[in-house]
Amino acid sequence: MALRTFALAAALLAISAAPASAAFTPGASGAGDPFYPQAGNGGYDVRTYSLKLAYEPQNEQLDGDATITARATQDLSSFNLDLRDLKVASVTVNGAAASFTQKDQELTITPSAGLREGQEFTARVVYGGHVNYVLDPDHSKDGWIPTDDGAFVVNEPQGAPTWFPANDTPKDFAIFDFAITVPEGRTALANGRLVSTTDNGDTTTWRWRESSPMVPYLTTATNGVFELRVGTVNGLPEYNAVDPQTRRFGRKDPEPQLAWDRLAAAQGPAVRLFSKLYGPYPYDSVGAIVDYAPNVFYSLESQTKPNYWVVPSELTIVHEIAHMWFGDAVVLERWPDMWLNEGFATWSEWIWSEKRGGTTAQQQFDALYATPEDSAAGQDLWFPAPNGLADASELFHTPVYDRGAMTLQALRQKVGEAAFLQIVRSWYAENRFQNVTTQDFIALAERVTGQQLDQFFQVWLFEEGRPEPGSW
Ligand SMILES: [Zn+2]
Repeated sequence: MALRTFALAAALLAISAAPASAAFTPGASGAGDPFYPQAGNGGYDVRTYSLKLAYEPQNEQLDGDATITARATQDLSSFNLDLRDLKVASVTVNGAAASFTQKDQELTITPSAGLREGQEFTARVVYGGHVNYVLDPDHSKDGWIPTDDGAFVVNEPQGAPTWFPANDTPKDFAIFDFAITVPEGRTALANGRLVSTTDNGDTTTWRWRESSPMVPYLTTATNGVFELRVGTVNGLPEYNAVDPQTRRFGRKDPEPQLAWDRLAAAQGPAVRLFSKLYGPYPYDSVGAIVDYAPNVFYSLESQTKPNYWVVPSELTIVHEIAHMWFGDAVVLERWPDMWLNEGFATWSEWIWSEKRGGTTAQQQFDALYATPEDSAAGQDLWFPAPNGLADASELFHTPVYDRGAMTLQALRQKVGEAAFLQIVRSWYAENRFQNVTTQDFIALAERVTGQQLDQFFQVWLFEEGRPEPGSW
């Protein structure tokens, strides 16, 4: 993560530019994730992104001007950013022209002088072109996805480089500023608080700032025709944007009022419930973007402003709000541990219902546990094991969600309510704005309870098939 405590060291080290020599080596072109090895890069740690974007929806043209401050973590002769399809016009590093090449998702930048380990540097990339989303291994669209009136912008797991040069790994937290210019009458949304809007005549520039650490896949820049309402939740500004054309999945008629009603019923209450249950809400703003993006088929927990592709159900809103704690503030280190995001968010739906006098989490567990292994639903639920995904095409499969949530509910049953809540609260308190792994969670559960839980987690997370009664 990007830590401001390095500023002094960086200032002391940044005395003079050093010549690129044998001691300076290229930064790695990938962060080495088991599922997306080329995503992210090595040799530096981003501290801030300042993104100036201008979008013309009628021809799907995006012009970008990105200024990135980073700290070198090795003596660098060159370094990479991830950027897909968009064409780079110029790059400077610390104000001096730098040479660059583009191949696939790799933008390789060679500064005129090497960058010393510990040195803070600024890279500016001017780029643009026709925007293209990415097709993920499960055939979902990801990234900058054009809509009738703008774009629906969601980046999990690999869409960020479709619209800005990024160190696209969940391991690099940074602070983000956005200045997004769209045609007059359109609204551009992004993470965090609204700083200003500027009327340029034919266009409007919307400036947003996310002042809490954020990883690239949780950014958004969704834009189009929206009604934006600013309210308050828990003393924080709440930015809700609803597309007047939004509707329920499969329905013909727009129902924006239904979106407003559901946000009112679920969003603030979920923020309050989870603040009590898990610990203080992580960010300085709350919000939602309800678009009409009929070709997307999923909603996403973009930081402070989840993106909904159609009018969401209340439980979907609850799910995405829960991700603010688990997924957005506590961030997985490697994609194969996805259940740490989705198991927690799904269990959060269950506890929401339980706390409101509906179905209890145990009833949800029991209903799922009754699913026979040899039924179609059982094949979907029990295979693969939630922490045994074969490849990225399985990232969003049912076990990651439902069996992940069952793992938490089974743990609650095993260790008792008080210990379970202490585990969940400590998980958040100790790991906010940091990366985590499944092994970290197992270690924490064992530390809090004083119990040896290897067999429990082996059965629930790592072994495919329906766990035998009494086996955990
Ligand atoms: Zn989720």
